[in-house]
Amino acid sequence: MSLGDVHRSAKAALLSQGFNEIHAQAIANTVTAAERDECRHHGLFRLPFYMNGLLSGQASGEAEPSLVELTPSVIKVDAKYSFSPLALERGDQPLADKAKEHGIAVLAVTNALNVAALWPEVERLADRGLVGFAFVAASPYVAPAGGTKPLFGTNPMAFAWPRHDKPPVVFDQASSASARGEIQLRLRDGKMLPEGWAIGPDGRPTTDPAQALAGAQLPFGGFKGSNIAMMVELLAGPLVGDVLSFEAGERDKANTGAPCGGELIIAIDPVRCVENGDRIAQLKHSEMLFSRMLEQDGARLPSDRRYEARERTAKEGVKVPVSLHDRIQAYIAG
Ligand code: NDP
Repeated sequence: MSLGDVHRSAKAALLSQGFNEIHAQAIANTVTAAERDECRHHGLFRLPFYMNGLLSGQASGEAEPSLVELTPSVIKVDAKYSFSPLALERGDQPLADKAKEHGIAVLAVTNALNVAALWPEVERLADRGLVGFAFVAASPYVAPAGGTKPLFGTNPMAFAWPRHDKPPVVFDQASSASARGEIQLRLRDGKMLPEGWAIGPDGRPTTDPAQALAGAQLPFGGFKGSNIAMMVELLAGPLVGDVLSFEAGERDKANTGAPCGGELIIAIDPVRCVENGDRIAQLKHSEMLFSRMLEQDGARLPSDRRYEARERTAKEGVKVPVSLHDRIQAYIAG
């Protein structure tokens, strides 16, 4: 499919299931960006999660997010139980404006169902010369280090750093050892898991995907990843006045896998962090780190894979499994 076809199909499917025009447009933008960058777990593959959220009655396909300024540099967007892409679009420009005005600004998104990747929101900030951070908690799948029961979400965090005349350096990673979708795929394909990804319901390490899904995922890097997962819970939950992952899980009565909660986004203007800040000089300095990294064989910058995919898919389009394509056509047919 061309990227235009991806967008048209996604939007038509969302409209046919009851999302209004602006939500369908915002979600289709998010899904298409993920396909474009070959982040397929968050592309068309995610449409059923959006549909399930809506059809279960847990998500609104029409709510208009509301924006309030809590302080001169803290903005809150209440998504009112709709999916996050529209709420993020609403908060994006005000957040960047506030960060440029005050040096640092915060966007607290609440009551948002989030099944997307986080790199789009931080990349947009870095495209405007800002440093961006984003944090989201999710359904409770991950045990704290040393524990055996699911408590944390897979809790991603993203970071973006602007560059001069180049796209930003961005990383966006879960705090679990693996994505949940990766375990589900291995179950489907009859493959075992690497050690260190999960424990079974009996609390013992397992490489069996069915046992892992019934038990708990593990954080990456032992207690270090566990501490990051805990931090993300606090930043995306109590800090912005929203729920923790286990509370979001309890609220997802229909078990849609589309949890509702908060997101914290922080934007910093580098020139406001240095006396007589010189943007170009600061960015040139950061380039020294990137070139030293790339001098080492095997090292690469996070996000370079996405940018290479972006160039390729603009020319060649994307491959979509026939079963997924058919499912989208079935949505459109109603
Ligand atoms: P990955 O492990 O695939 O990648 C994590 C990051 O590491 C990416 O930024 C990737 O960049 C970078 N990276 C990969 N390989 C290298 C390397 N060799 N050197 C340097 N950097 C590298 O992602 P995860 O499985 O942890 O997360 C996948 C996505 O799932 C994220 O987008 C996350 O936001 C999303 N997610 C969303 C949730 C939600 O509730 N909304 C819950 C959990 C996850 P690159 O892209 O260039 O490969």
